[in-house]
Amino acid sequence: MSEELIRECIKDLIPYEPGKPIEEVKRELGLEEVIKLASNENSLGPSPKAIEAIRENAPFVNLYPDGGGFYLRKKLAQKYGLKIENILLGNGSDEIIRMIVETFLNPGEEVIVGEPAFIIYQLASKVMEGKCIKVPLKDFTHDLKAMKERVSEKTKLVFISNPNNPTGTMVTKEEVDEFMEGLPSSLIVVFDEAYYEYIDDPKYPDTLKFVREGKNVIILRTFSKAYGLAGLRIGYALSTPSIITGLNRVRQPFNTNALAQKAAIAALDDQEHVQKSREMVKKGKDYLYAELKKLGLRFIPSVTNFILIDMKMDGKKIFQKLLKRGVIVRPMGGYNLPTYIRVTVGKREENEKFIQALKEAIEEVRNESSSGN
Ligand SMILES: *Cc1c(COP(=O)(O)O)cnc(C)c1O
Repeated sequence: MSEELIRECIKDLIPYEPGKPIEEVKRELGLEEVIKLASNENSLGPSPKAIEAIRENAPFVNLYPDGGGFYLRKKLAQKYGLKIENILLGNGSDEIIRMIVETFLNPGEEVIVGEPAFIIYQLASKVMEGKCIKVPLKDFTHDLKAMKERVSEKTKLVFISNPNNPTGTMVTKEEVDEFMEGLPSSLIVVFDEAYYEYIDDPKYPDTLKFVREGKNVIILRTFSKAYGLAGLRIGYALSTPSIITGLNRVRQPFNTNALAQKAAIAALDDQEHVQKSREMVKKGKDYLYAELKKLGLRFIPSVTNFILIDMKMDGKKIFQKLLKRGVIVRPMGGYNLPTYIRVTVGKREENEKFIQALKEAIEEVRNESSSGN
């Protein structure tokens, strides 16, 4: 096939690079024990109730799923005091980001994003020939004032990753209220709240209020992170009935699978598991912060289950040295942060393994550079 056949807007697209899978690292490096702290998954695994629901429903996968996901939407509606018309399910919130640009973005219209923020917003927008306006973060946090200044009559979407991936920072209720004030109704604001369940800061904004007021706002949440169901691919959007109706026009008829829907319903009934996960992350962060300080490393304090760390050396090298030692983290070169790595907070023994491997990795990189390799 000739490259010319590819659409113009796709030609310079760089595919999203996910965290390396454990099996791949084992295979490629001949390792037996590998831990993955690269994709902000829940190290405690899924809720036992979710596993049970998957088992119980496995015999019925010969049947197509309920494409609309009625029971899960109903459950979410109850949880949030909304109607099922306010809710849309997606094959991960990633898919909903795609559906948002497909539904709302005309070629040439502008999308305002933070830089660096979750890269999928830009990828998805480019597929629809949208124009990304990248607004630099301020102190590793979305600069909502600067983002608002970039709003024009060409703006169709604004993506706010709150908390932000890869920095782990959040914008406050006050900042969001000021941002929303007087915004034109010709654009839609997307609050990506993938790490919502990990937040315990009282200054975190209640964005559901905007949905209740009928504002052009879409909230994205997911079962991939605190709920530990990343492999099942299920997330959801909370928005106004008219926005949800629009999104449903582009939704694949069976976009979320039957087991994912059942597991998600069961997971919602296991708030104890979510609480356990929160506690693991809180303790894990305390431990990691203390160890990173001892190593003299700068990190960005995080409201999520991951930490962005400045290695003050090539982050990709550290990533590779950690890989050799069976620890997968994420190098941040793709986010224009070449000296940084991002690590997911895991269980105590995983965090310890990471710190031990990190010490060795730093040592090795230093030795190599002093011997001129
Ligand atoms: C992990 C993540 C998502 C994607 O979650 P899925 O539901 O698994 O697609 C979305 N946004 C942010 C900011 C994330 O970090």
